[in-house]
Amino acid sequence: MKISVAPLMKQPYGVSETYDLGESPITPRSEHAALLEIGVRAVEGDALFTHTNPGILVQGTVRADVELECGRCLDRFIARVPARLEEQYYASIDVVSGAVLAEPPRDARVIGHDFLLDVTPLVREHVLLELPLKPLCRENCAGICPTCGVDQNERAHRHDEVEDERWSQLRTLLADFDKKK
Ligand SMILES: [Zn+2]
Ligand SMILES: [Zn+2]
Repeated sequence: MKISVAPLMKQPYGVSETYDLGESPITPRSEHAALLEIGVRAVEGDALFTHTNPGILVQGTVRADVELECGRCLDRFIARVPARLEEQYYASIDVVSGAVLAEPPRDARVIGHDFLLDVTPLVREHVLLELPLKPLCRENCAGICPTCGVDQNERAHRHDEVEDERWSQLRTLLADFDKKK
């Protein structure tokens, strides 16, 4: 999502403006399309852009709906991930005179000749930092049975040491059969 910051940079230092960073749903043609590759399906939130001496200071809060895979049951689910944004962007050109400005620090985020500030990489970076290392679809997810592979959230069960799942299924069938007789 590219935001034109030229008008703000023509204002005195300290002047700020709020921009809506939300987009829902995010599709391959969205302004936030680059977030799809980390599983983000929607974003809401906004950021305050302030004209500062080196350029634009971005401060904001976003909430991203991220599709994750549960570490226990392998179901895919949507987690709401909040992230704080704070980043100083450096102007490379004076917006009024067009003069080339002093070289920004190494690794600094730079505002190019078009004065478009792309916030998507910043959102991506901060949402990535907030993603859980071991996602769980719910806190008490029972996970997949290590013996038979059945999702234990759907069917809680235990295995006797001597009896495996196929035998218990067979017994259920036989019991049903007996009932029908
Ligand atoms: Zn789960
Ligand atoms: Zn099982």
